Amino acid sequence: MSDTEICQLLEGWFGGAMRPLPWRIEPREPYWSLVSEFMLQQTQVSRVLERFGPFVERFPSVEELAGASEEEVLGAWSGLGYYRRARMLHACAKAIVENHGGVIPRDVGELMSLPGIGRYTAGAMASMVFGLREPLVDGNVMRVLQRLGNNADQQTDPKTIKWAWEWAAGLVGVADEPGVLNEALMELGATICTPKRIGCDRCPVAGFCESFKAGTTESVPPPKPRAKRKALYCASVLCVDGEGRVLFEQRAADGMWGNMWQVPTVEEESRPTAAEVGQGAELIESFVHQTTHRIVRFDVYRCDSWEIQEGQRFLSRAEIESRGVSNAQRRILKIGDTL
Ligand code: SF4
Repeated sequence: MSDTEICQLLEGWFGGAMRPLPWRIEPREPYWSLVSEFMLQQTQVSRVLERFGPFVERFPSVEELAGASEEEVLGAWSGLGYYRRARMLHACAKAIVENHGGVIPRDVGELMSLPGIGRYTAGAMASMVFGLREPLVDGNVMRVLQRLGNNADQQTDPKTIKWAWEWAAGLVGVADEPGVLNEALMELGATICTPKRIGCDRCPVAGFCESFKAGTTESVPPPKPRAKRKALYCASVLCVDGEGRVLFEQRAADGMWGNMWQVPTVEEESRPTAAEVGQGAELIESFVHQTTHRIVRFDVYRCDSWEIQEGQRFLSRAEIESRGVSNAQRRILKIGDTL
């Protein structure tokens, strides 16, 4: 198998196959690419497409993002989940303004010194935006390389990770356009060499794929061992005033959904009883919400005579929308709409 031939095929294929995404403008706008890279971490493109445009419209430059309050940034991020990324992107923008005069650095080392930027994002920015000969490996690239090389080792094994980065560096070393090659590898993993329903019949590098030849595409890479998710119970209380405003409070800065807004919520390792929730609270619905590390069971209560605690306040729907609200809380608000 020849790295040069693989690069030529992938680079040739990418121009006609790439999905038209708003941040794929030529020449690349570094700030847009930075925002899209943060948004795309662990999130489907379809969801990012809903939030990307309004976000860069609200914060059109690194400076404007850096100058915004955390609350504004979380509000614009609402619905994308994994809010730690929003905080990291905000911190990253501040560091670019403070330490780099508002100009996103090109060098991988400098990029990696910024908050929230790891080896993958640094490689993506350096190669795809600045055209530098830098490799990248994300989940999609890892899967494509493992199948191309018929490497059935665990993806999380440091040996496999090292192997993938070395091969990615080898490929980018012989590519005509390093950014195009990297993006093509990711696009192949996202659209054809997918975890399931693999489209080998449409693959531009099928002729060089060792898994395809060996008939092991379904078993390479092997499934990741699953970490057991912890259970958490939340009793959330919907209190609506005469003007339709909903009682809200802000979560603590650390931990899950840090600094996000929620209806008053009791959170326990075991299911809180109605008596623990508060007098006059009536259970109206329950649902289960899954995060990466948790299975959260929500009991939604309504209460018409809630004693307002310190830090709680009634917010209109417009005020809620401008704050950071998790998808679980949006679901609770929808339940409130039916009351
Ligand atoms: S031939 Fe199939 S398994 Fe191999 S890289 Fe292409 S899509 Fe992936």
